[in-house]
Amino acid sequence: MSTATATAKPGFDRQGTAGDDERLDAAMKSFVSDFSVTVGLHLESCVHCGLCAKACHFHLATGEARHTPIWKLEPFRRAYLRQASPFAPLVRALGLVKAPTIADLQQWQELLYDACTMCGRCTTACPMGIDIAELIRDARHGMFKAGLIPERLALMDRTARQWGSPATPAEDLPDILAEVSATHGVPIPCDLAQADVLVTAAPAELGEHTKALADAAKILNRLGLRWTMHQGGFDASNIGFNNGDLELQERLTRSLIDTAVKIGARTVLLPECGHAYGAARWDAARWYPQGLPVRVIHMTEFLDEQIAAGRLRVRPIGHTATFHDPCQIVRRGGLEAAARRVLAALGFELIELDAHGVTGLCCGGGGGVVSNQRAAPLRHQVFALKQSQVDATGAEHFVTSCGQCRITLEMGARQAGWTKKTESLLELVADNLAD
Ligand code: SF4
Ligand code: SF4
Repeated sequence: MSTATATAKPGFDRQGTAGDDERLDAAMKSFVSDFSVTVGLHLESCVHCGLCAKACHFHLATGEARHTPIWKLEPFRRAYLRQASPFAPLVRALGLVKAPTIADLQQWQELLYDACTMCGRCTTACPMGIDIAELIRDARHGMFKAGLIPERLALMDRTARQWGSPATPAEDLPDILAEVSATHGVPIPCDLAQADVLVTAAPAELGEHTKALADAAKILNRLGLRWTMHQGGFDASNIGFNNGDLELQERLTRSLIDTAVKIGARTVLLPECGHAYGAARWDAARWYPQGLPVRVIHMTEFLDEQIAAGRLRVRPIGHTATFHDPCQIVRRGGLEAAARRVLAALGFELIELDAHGVTGLCCGGGGGVVSNQRAAPLRHQVFALKQSQVDATGAEHFVTSCGQCRITLEMGARQAGWTKKTESLLELVADNLAD
């Protein structure tokens, strides 16, 4: 059961029927359970220099003090100081720090979910090494436990719990793949009992961006690999990762990796999706402490490796291009060079954005913000930053390697009347395979 308040104002949603005290208690218990030594060190270390504000695209776009990254953690910080810091008993006894209230949490829902993409740009800017993006994820965990997340994300959460994907039930996958296969004229194997590579998709590839899925199939078939998609684990976007629903996050990650193990696959190939990479490549270690039993690889890495090994040959396009670095793949994921090598193989003369690589500006839609309709006006403000940087390059092509970034940028472009097309690196490779 879920009840949502009006989405415009006051700007927060509630799920479930719990009373205010119960919600507050659930959030506090979750916050306290996430207070590790590292979290404590980070929350104690802020020197209020303000550099994180200058790094955050929401703060840059609005200039509002409340969009300062560390401020987005204020209730979480207060909970730490009162419950888990070395002087917590004294802090409580003397009333040195105000206890977070249900009104605080409701007010902060917007800052944590609408005004943060967990992009980590503030993290790289902080001279004290405070991983604000990771702390936001911890705070979101408490908000999820309290039933205080945007209703759009809650709906996707419930759907993914039921279907294994927010996009479609697993049992519909064979029919969807058959249709994509017929539309684009490319075979897409499904539910093979044995394969070497388990290929996964982002939700948009099962609906709006089916060409990306067909293009992945075209490349895998060209390489002669034994691959399959599988009902057991097919959607790599991880709504649990975004929402703070750790239980769902684990379940969705396990569905990919355990399915790969079951069919004998040594590789899980992730789609052009940033959060898929964060969840399945890096966060998966939480549930496989002995090490992942399979290799988890992003599509960009895969293309780079195949081109470098000479197994995949592409025709040079020979235009200028600029590249949007998806935060979870580049800043948080470390894959800065791979996309640039693929662009070079395609013969592009790369003109870098003013902010690029690990310091690139977020598209404004990560962390579930793109799916959160309530956040659209803020997202559009952020889009203007990227738009002006792209325009300044004068590049003929604008390329990225994350489907969610692409959707965010396409939505921003439509709203702004900007005619520049956002192109997929995967699709450029597939469209330019050499004979
Ligand atoms: S993680 Fe990104 S969006 Fe969130 S506060 Fe930091 S810079 Fe802003
Ligand atoms: S950059 Fe780091 S130290 Fe400076 S205000 Fe932000 S969180 Fe605090």
